[in-house]
Amino acid sequence: MSTTRFGRIGARRVVNGVGPATRLGGVPLHPTVIEAMAEATGYAVRMDDLERRAGQEIADLIGVEAAYVTSGAAAGLTLATAALIAGRDPALADALPLRLPEVRRVVVLAAHRDPYDRAIEAAGAELVTVGYPAHTHLGEIERVLDDGVVAVLYRPGRPGNHPSLAAICDLADRHGVPVLIDGALYAPPLENVRRWMDEGAGLVAMSGGKHLRGPQATGILCGRRRLLDAVAVHHQDMDERESTWHSGDSAPGATPPRHGIGRAMKVGREQIAGLLAAVERYAMSPGIDDQPGISELERLAVLLAEGPLPTAWHPTSALGVPVLELDLARSGADVDLFVSVLRDHEPSVFLEESEAWRGVLVVNPMALIAGDADTIAAAVASAWVQAVPPGGVR
Ligand SMILES: *Cc1c(COP(=O)(O)O)cnc(C)c1O
Repeated sequence: MSTTRFGRIGARRVVNGVGPATRLGGVPLHPTVIEAMAEATGYAVRMDDLERRAGQEIADLIGVEAAYVTSGAAAGLTLATAALIAGRDPALADALPLRLPEVRRVVVLAAHRDPYDRAIEAAGAELVTVGYPAHTHLGEIERVLDDGVVAVLYRPGRPGNHPSLAAICDLADRHGVPVLIDGALYAPPLENVRRWMDEGAGLVAMSGGKHLRGPQATGILCGRRRLLDAVAVHHQDMDERESTWHSGDSAPGATPPRHGIGRAMKVGREQIAGLLAAVERYAMSPGIDDQPGISELERLAVLLAEGPLPTAWHPTSALGVPVLELDLARSGADVDLFVSVLRDHEPSVFLEESEAWRGVLVVNPMALIAGDADTIAAAVASAWVQAVPPGGVR
């Protein structure tokens, strides 16, 4: 009989060498984060009040005007788009996403396209793609900035000859359009958020479950207060009576909207408490020293160095942690077969596949736990036998 609830229902443990991957449940939580989540369920609070106060606390820790806790960076993109399209207008809030009187658009550079663009479309915006993967002209952006555009979406970390963030913000600002940044992979570091704001960005969506190592289903939407003020209208539970609704700074006599599209992305008080604790921890010591996965990765590097597979150690990655690359290309191994042998190992082993196109699998330490180095080394050894052609290294 298994000792864990997951074990009892037959949900088997896998080794997560990918890091903060949503499909593998994210990273382990620090005990202080878990404590904060347990404490949060002790008594009831008004969720809109909690959001306001936690948002201000988190904004102060990040060093921005305002912040709002979401259920992830993707939800942050959807909520930002809803707020930018409809503001606090109850009629427009109720019309999202399919019954808007006029088409609303979000401009995105071709180089910045990403599957998470779906989160923008989910709010009812149409995407307008400009430029090319390796180069974009500022004029190409300017030509599409008309009255129907509610935001320019910007994703940091995309190489190519593109206008700088500052230049894009300056242009968008002249057209009265805010710039929305998908910062899920590049914030933290928190200095990045402050720099983006200094360069003129309006809003930044962050993930709570990535480098912040907060609860998996959390995120932060932060930036300018005037842009964030409308978010609650689209997110909070609106099971309100018209005559007693606290309309805040809405027009006098305004009727409340119904549940906004963000109601389906609700955040519980334990998520807010856990995220707040994670941000407090991160702001106090953004270092990586206390991550148990790092020593496991170091141990794995030693174990693999004894085998035939070439490896390369990278002291930092986009997520601010060291990673270990397994170079299958140089051994002539079939990467897809290698991945499937790792998956069929007992327990299953998952490694990062974003570099699989060049024959490289990456081990990220953020979700590794004690003993994982041995499991990965054993799985890699059996995958080597099955996926490398006879004759070995070419
Ligand atoms: C992970 C990621 C997201 C989504 O973050 P969640 O917090 O899981 O919703 C959005 N955009 C990019 C670029 C990401 O890498």
